[in-house]
Amino acid sequence: MADKSFFIDTTKCTACRGCQIACKQWNKNPGTKTIQRGNHQNPSDLSASTFKLVRFNEVEIPGGEPKWYFFPDQCRHCMSPPCKEVADGKVKGAILQDEKTGAVIFSPKVKVNPADFKEIRESCPYDIPRINAGMGIMAKCTMCFDRIKEGMLPACVKTCPTGTMNFGDRKDILEKANKRLAEVKKVYKDAFLANSDDVRAIFLLVDDAKRYYKFAVAENTIGITRKMALKRLFQPLTGLRDLIG
Ligand code: SF4
Ligand code: SF4
Repeated sequence: MADKSFFIDTTKCTACRGCQIACKQWNKNPGTKTIQRGNHQNPSDLSASTFKLVRFNEVEIPGGEPKWYFFPDQCRHCMSPPCKEVADGKVKGAILQDEKTGAVIFSPKVKVNPADFKEIRESCPYDIPRINAGMGIMAKCTMCFDRIKEGMLPACVKTCPTGTMNFGDRKDILEKANKRLAEVKKVYKDAFLANSDDVRAIFLLVDDAKRYYKFAVAENTIGITRKMALKRLFQPLTGLRDLIG
């Protein structure tokens, strides 16, 4: 198996949630109790039993109509995953990366304590890691490793009826993503591929990333944890305070 990647073309997403359901079914994850919150978001967030979540965001465009942004969220299977870097220093074997495909996998056998989990979650620029608190077991998208090693597509990709979800060899996926970006840019000049050099789940977005979801795009460089990035951010302030006395 070669290096793999997803291409997630949000311009084609209708928010049908087929991918979300297919992910639950394949992973035999229990349904999550849904409640009416006055919007379409259900469940409200990722969890140890929801690895794929279609995020809905309604934005009021100044002077215009409300606009919907759909974001089928999931682990990005980072090229150099900061979650693994942190986990390796805390609880060996909790996070593994497949050498061939690049899939980043949370071990279902290794227990993680709440303090270590907090640091692992904070290290992820996309806020993906979740834990089954009772069992101390972390969980997230597995890239459907059990399917792809048998030559099948991940369940979300197989199910998506619109062509939003794509998966394949990284080289082919990058080619496909760049080709589609060039097409989309003719209509949406601000379109871009989110962190495409750093991740294996590449989202095509056409607007300010924050309109989709606050963690849609990494704010800090991959490989630097959110905590370290914050420290860097406040370093100049500390320096200024020293200067002012
Ligand atoms: S998106 Fe987050 S959980 Fe997934 S590999 Fe990257 S750092 Fe780890
Ligand atoms: S199945 Fe495809 S179109 Fe439906 S919500 Fe998921 S990504 Fe969007």
